[in-house]
Amino acid sequence: MQDRFWLVGNHLAVDFVNTVLGTDLRTEALHDWGDVLRFLVRAGALTEREARRVRRQTRREHAEAAAYAAALSLRDMVRELVTERASGKAPALESISRLNLELEAAATYPQIRETDEGWWLEDLPVNRSWSGALGRIALAAAGLAVRGAGSIRKCANPECILYFRDASQAQVRRWCSMAVCGNRAKVAAHARRATETSIRSRVSTPRGQLAADASTPRILAKP
Ligand SMILES: [Zn+2]
Repeated sequence: MQDRFWLVGNHLAVDFVNTVLGTDLRTEALHDWGDVLRFLVRAGALTEREARRVRRQTRREHAEAAAYAAALSLRDMVRELVTERASGKAPALESISRLNLELEAAATYPQIRETDEGWWLEDLPVNRSWSGALGRIALAAAGLAVRGAGSIRKCANPECILYFRDASQAQVRRWCSMAVCGNRAKVAAHARRATETSIRSRVSTPRGQLAADASTPRILAKP
């Protein structure tokens, strides 16, 4: 079930917004709290172990429905922020106030850990419950609020609702995915060129001949 998440956003908060995806049809990728945890693992915000612990605890507290509702509400809020950033607007004060509330769940404390590369100072979450898991998305969104201007874009396909952070040096990324929307645009441009060529050839058909318009064949008057 991993492929339902389309991690093209290049940013945790943007990928979270992109869990509603689609072009002609909108597809919801998050159907329950389990999906939200799966997304967080796929996006690298939780380890498998952390996700299992959060899932057990949420189940114990019978809080799955509350956690899922909170996730969708957070997504709506982050979508507003991402939309504002993509259109070059400063974030609305209301978005910032709501985000600040969510950020309380993102508090961390430092711990020294031993890794293969030596001692490492790591920030661990204070809140290890489901709200702490969502706090990680809020923290990522806060990064967009303070530094996201200019790099957040909507896919150039007007039918597509996906966003991404353009990390390219020249800031030239246009599509959520070259393979999908970029390719669609190429195919459409090719079809447009082919139509224009056929119109030009019709227009230049010498008078007295059958016009090359198969749908309305007619003999043009001779001079
Ligand atoms: Zn797209």
